Amino acid sequence: MTPPSYPVRPEVQAFEPYSPGLSIDEIRARFGLDRVVKMASNENPLGASPLVQQRIAARAGLAFRYAQTGNPRLVAALAAFHGMDPGHFVPGNGSDEIIDLLVRICPTPGRHNVVASKPSFSMYGLQSRLCGVEFRQVPLREDFSFDWQSLLAAVDTQTALVFITTPDNPSGYCPPVSDVEAFARALPPSCLLVVDEAYMDFCGDEAAHSLLPRFTEFSNLVILRTFSKSFGLAGLRLGYGILPLPLAAHMRNVHPPFSVNILAEEAGLAALEDTVFRQETLAAVAEGRAFIKQALEALGCRVFPSQANFLMFQLPAASSRTAKEVFEALLARGVIIRPLSSYGMPRHLRVSMGSADENHLFVTLLREVLA
Ligand SMILES: *Cc1c(COP(=O)(O)O)cnc(C)c1O
Repeated sequence: MTPPSYPVRPEVQAFEPYSPGLSIDEIRARFGLDRVVKMASNENPLGASPLVQQRIAARAGLAFRYAQTGNPRLVAALAAFHGMDPGHFVPGNGSDEIIDLLVRICPTPGRHNVVASKPSFSMYGLQSRLCGVEFRQVPLREDFSFDWQSLLAAVDTQTALVFITTPDNPSGYCPPVSDVEAFARALPPSCLLVVDEAYMDFCGDEAAHSLLPRFTEFSNLVILRTFSKSFGLAGLRLGYGILPLPLAAHMRNVHPPFSVNILAEEAGLAALEDTVFRQETLAAVAEGRAFIKQALEALGCRVFPSQANFLMFQLPAASSRTAKEVFEALLARGVIIRPLSSYGMPRHLRVSMGSADENHLFVTLLREVLA
């Protein structure tokens, strides 16, 4: 591209964007398929909760209104849901917005740095680089667990944020809470530990894995949660940060006033009420995970332990097919999964848990492709 005559920041000119896959419609058209199943983005396997759908329909007439700045009703509901002081909660347009705000609020470009693992969720690095903030990555161990020692070694007096994802994406690895606690206590108070718990509710035993119940013991801990996965609201964009009180106050000050729209707020309130749908989701994910894991292992794949709503796997060493070929062969048959080459892992794939029907279809087609 020729440089424009007007100013565009060098970070923007050099930016490598997030790469979404093909849409369902594009795949249907390209391969002449009737049915396309998407198991690529860790969305809810049961769709949107019926209560959420009713609530959005009933409140559709509010679409002309701005939401109340700060979404106080939603904040009160979240505080009650977690049994915590509402002052800690800041809702965002997806937890992506909270990540973006953290990177713009805490580190000063050219002075501070941000630390994460490699590979890690792409938003941490994308937002840091866009802001001109140094982004340091520490390789995961061979089994995809965190290398706590090396993460600590990468932290210096200028480290503003360390991102940890637990359960991790794309592996599904979920460390015991004792590991996370030891790491949190080893960090200097000048550095915030951001624990992205987008998938924590799928782990089966939150007390054994999350620091959230003891959040107030830490002055430099941030936890991120989202409505995109177990609550089934990915398309409405709703997530939240749980932050130390002073940081939450700063974030509320600089937060775009209406980024959580009025229907997303209504949907979030309904999703918190619909405990039946949530239990059904967690049960469907646990069942799908056991079924697909067993089927992948029977096909000779290496399956990594996952406590999220997806599984990462490696093709059998004996297979002549590459991960990209397998991804494309499944695509042509109407099932979208995620090759992990963009994470720098050409031999690995990630599949999100679908409905029981979709899980069976995936296994059947993969067996055909690998035969
Ligand atoms: C899906 C996901 C999120 C959620 O992002 P939203 O913006 O809330 O949709 C956050 N972190 C990780 C690691 C994820 O995989």
